[in-house]
Amino acid sequence: MNDKHTNITQSEQHSLLRSDKENVWHPYTSMSEPLPSYLVDSAQGVTINLASGERLIDGMSSWWSVLHGYNHPKLNAALQEQAAKMSHVMFGGLTHRSAITLCEKLVLLTPEGLTKVFLSDSGSVSVEVAIKMALQYQHAIAEKKQVMLTKTKLLTVKNGYHGDTFAAMSVCDPITGMHQIFEQVLMKHYFAPAPSIKFGENWSTDDVTKLSALFSAHHNEIAAFIIEPIVQGTGGMRFYHPEYLKACRLLCDKYDVIMIVDEIATGFGRTGKLFACEWAEITPDIMCLGKTLTGGYITLAATLCTTHIAQTISDGAAGCFMHGPTFMGNALACAVANASIDLLFENDWQNQVQGIESTLNTLLKPLTTHARVKDTRVLGSIGAVECTQSVNVAQIQKRFVELGVWIRPFGQLIYIIPPLIITSEQLSTLVNAIATVLDEDECFS
Ligand SMILES: *Cc1c(COP(=O)(O)O)cnc(C)c1O
Repeated sequence: MNDKHTNITQSEQHSLLRSDKENVWHPYTSMSEPLPSYLVDSAQGVTINLASGERLIDGMSSWWSVLHGYNHPKLNAALQEQAAKMSHVMFGGLTHRSAITLCEKLVLLTPEGLTKVFLSDSGSVSVEVAIKMALQYQHAIAEKKQVMLTKTKLLTVKNGYHGDTFAAMSVCDPITGMHQIFEQVLMKHYFAPAPSIKFGENWSTDDVTKLSALFSAHHNEIAAFIIEPIVQGTGGMRFYHPEYLKACRLLCDKYDVIMIVDEIATGFGRTGKLFACEWAEITPDIMCLGKTLTGGYITLAATLCTTHIAQTISDGAAGCFMHGPTFMGNALACAVANASIDLLFENDWQNQVQGIESTLNTLLKPLTTHARVKDTRVLGSIGAVECTQSVNVAQIQKRFVELGVWIRPFGQLIYIIPPLIITSEQLSTLVNAIATVLDEDECFS
């Protein structure tokens, strides 16, 4: 695994990285003093091959998105077959087999009642679409009842993350959401405390007291409630009790509020259920999918809604939903999404996820006793180590690369969410690397 064969010469590597530093923005790092970027030559299976020769076991699935590994022959073939026909055609007035098949599959696989699919380009956009759907729905209802439109606000919980575009940002955690800078231009919404009873703990309705009070006081203003089901990801890798989600569904019903569930991070098996909603046996009114939708190949997202919502919007004065991205229904993305969903079942995803979960329970859970560890959490294919201190990203990243793994922690969290095809040996390399850096003071600040 340590052969230093690479397709990029050393001098090319230097000039590429110099140009990268000079011209290229990377996410959440300074443009003038950026954190180092590692140059990737190729990736295969669960391994990322750096141009400098290191072979890294991937613990991140390229931000939750890769399911079946990199450079998969079946996913590659799906792309090539589609490209040989056409890569893209506009979706206004035209349609094609790959998109139709994908939407059929999504309706079939997602909770009963979600029947209409709106395809878009990225997770954040699918959240924008969900919010617009909810607002346009409430607009159409007010119009029909000939009453003034008052339901224009959103309700959510703290610690959430829903994306980086404006409407999505407005429902991210007001403090950890990294978006305080935009506070003056963001729409103001209602925030309930984050769910506090953890997955697997004893349930008590106390956890929804404040949320219920917000519904009760403001339902006349609230168009929709939005939440990540079971796993609050970017907001802290917190796993909460399914009864909380059930209670949300009941409150939305009681107060005539649209329930939007953001399954962008949790969809397609990640939590041990195909969709995290299934832990609570609920159907939302609107569901967002992204990240794993194409198995990590190309950006694609989907917003699903009920027949009732689609019908109400379509019966409104506009007569249609007011959104239509240029690359809607991109054929390459849909083709690879179809192949990825097929592979999920061919590979018996449930068995894969259970295998990862039990290995993580055996290997990662014991890190709880480490002096630098506050908590460890495992659910499905997700493992998180919450530290007592923030990590030093540049240093810890360098050490992980030296240890032959790709893990990118943030804040006090070191987490892994590997491709489903990872072996238990590869998983143990990931966890051993975490155990090693926990002992190194210079990896923490
Ligand atoms: C990643 C993520 C998003 C945003 O998706 P992008 O494709 O990055 O725009 C939204 N919601 C959740 C829960 C996510 O994890």
